[in-house]
Amino acid sequence: MSQETQSPISGQISEKPLKIALVRCHIVAEVCPGIGCFKAFNNKTVAFSNYNDSAELIAAFTCGGCSGRRVHRLCKSVQKFGADVVHLSSCMCKDMDGYSRCPHIDSIKKMIEDLGLFVVEGTHH
Ligand code: SF4
Repeated sequence: MSQETQSPISGQISEKPLKIALVRCHIVAEVCPGIGCFKAFNNKTVAFSNYNDSAELIAAFTCGGCSGRRVHRLCKSVQKFGADVVHLSSCMCKDMDGYSRCPHIDSIKKMIEDLGLFVVEGTHH
């Protein structure tokens, strides 16, 4: 069933379901399976609260380690599969739970935006 989706990219109503990819910190992923990120997406809360039920989480991967060595390659790959938006996990974006904000986040954001993808900072915090 086709459902209208509020696009964070243009602020306009789109017929196409939004496709979302998630990038997580490679270091934090050693101890975190990403439950909070997925729970927030599944419940459409916090950073996902603007999406309706038609939004799809099509990929989740880690940055590959400092300084985000595989972000460009994998974001380019998910773009081929129709990704519109890339969320950066909350652990990358904030000083929280003993983790520090990623020191490379600005360059990571830029490399994703330069591909033409919309970047949202945060997932579940
Ligand atoms: S580049 Fe940032 S997000 Fe990636 S491992 Fe290093 S600190 Fe974590």
